[in-house]
Amino acid sequence: MDKKVAFYTLGCKLNFSETSTIARDFSSEGFERVDFKEKADIYVINTCSVTENADKRFKSIVKQAQKVNPEAFVAAVGCYAQLKPQELADVDGVDLVLGATEKFKITDYLNDLSKNDMGEVHSCEIEDANFYVGSYSIGDRTRAFLKVQDGCDYKCTYCTIPLARGVSRSDTLENVLENARAISAKNIKEIVLTGVNIGDYGKGEFGNKKHGHTFYELVKALDKVEGIERLRISSIEPNLLKNETIEFVSKSKAFVPHFHIPLQSGNNEILKLMRRRYMKELYVERVSRIKEVMPHACIGVDVIVGFPGETDDLFLETYNFLNELEISYLHVFTYSERDHTVAASLEGVVSKKVRAKRSKMLRGLSVKKRRAFYESQIGSSRTVLFEGENKEGYIQGFTENYVKVKSPWNPELVNTLQTVELTDIDDDGLVRFEFVSELVR
Ligand code: SF4
Repeated sequence: MDKKVAFYTLGCKLNFSETSTIARDFSSEGFERVDFKEKADIYVINTCSVTENADKRFKSIVKQAQKVNPEAFVAAVGCYAQLKPQELADVDGVDLVLGATEKFKITDYLNDLSKNDMGEVHSCEIEDANFYVGSYSIGDRTRAFLKVQDGCDYKCTYCTIPLARGVSRSDTLENVLENARAISAKNIKEIVLTGVNIGDYGKGEFGNKKHGHTFYELVKALDKVEGIERLRISSIEPNLLKNETIEFVSKSKAFVPHFHIPLQSGNNEILKLMRRRYMKELYVERVSRIKEVMPHACIGVDVIVGFPGETDDLFLETYNFLNELEISYLHVFTYSERDHTVAASLEGVVSKKVRAKRSKMLRGLSVKKRRAFYESQIGSSRTVLFEGENKEGYIQGFTENYVKVKSPWNPELVNTLQTVELTDIDDDGLVRFEFVSELVR
């Protein structure tokens, strides 16, 4: 009888694309994939090191699996497993912990799935994680996450990702195009490009430190692939989002007018302390260039509050900077100290209470910005990709410029692209619409 495997993924789109690839390996080894809530012979947890209380989350997920099947084999992979392997191996019920170089070979580490007395660790120095393994997610959601790049060579002082994922390296352009074709052949309408620092795409493509191709060349090549309806850039560093890419997206067949660009702070002194590679003036340039060629574009912003040295005045500078910018929503992160980071020993520590207060203020600003953006789209004609879940009698979806819409549940709409006119905003903040043409089947 087929062995059953279940997965739990924490963190980013990159982690989801890698879980999906690892799951396909299990299927090719004859495992049947079941939901994490169901009884399985092995549970695989793909961990994240950025998640708040990552350790508590991990322990509760292991407990959840053990409750369903105390005999099951429990394996941990991902960024947290690379950063703190022994800490995870010491958690009751964990049998195997694999680091960044081993996670894609997990099926090689499985014997008869009998539990180990203590968690076995197969991890390595992150310097060894210098080779590239491609991945993409399929079947889990309406859109597919396509990994094009991994690791990072930047040294932002608050970040542990380079320690968890290694140096910047990229898939070959040919392989990315092949994966994109494979995804569109499965009737997936939207592909989201993902990685750690995707603007650095091309670095290490041919196994050396040089750039084989650039991100701009990747975008142009992907736009030519037949059958892909939509391409979305997940997140890109402002200094790596070149004007030529912005202009290309504004005229492209498939790339959607949605940019998610980490800012982190609206004050140049703090940006220097964070060792970010731009000043706020460059960020303004990028936003204005995007809005110049794509006035309806959606712009999402990552921002960190409570970084050491962020006084009330400097925080207000960030608040006002964001308030004045023509952006659409914020992802607000509360600064938290991470081991082995430069920022953890910087002076000017901000109290947790003040961090929480500032985070609340920026989340309030984000609601205001998103509302203003949605209002600016009312009356416009957009294309919606409908998702597959019946949410309390409603079907939801996103326009190309990331406006979230809803309408009464209709299974015929699932995973279809329809042209609509946005009419008004409902009390829950989602946008209603009217179909402007016959339904496309
Ligand atoms: S660019 Fe900076 S924040 Fe982003 S992964 Fe690299 S080091 Fe971390």
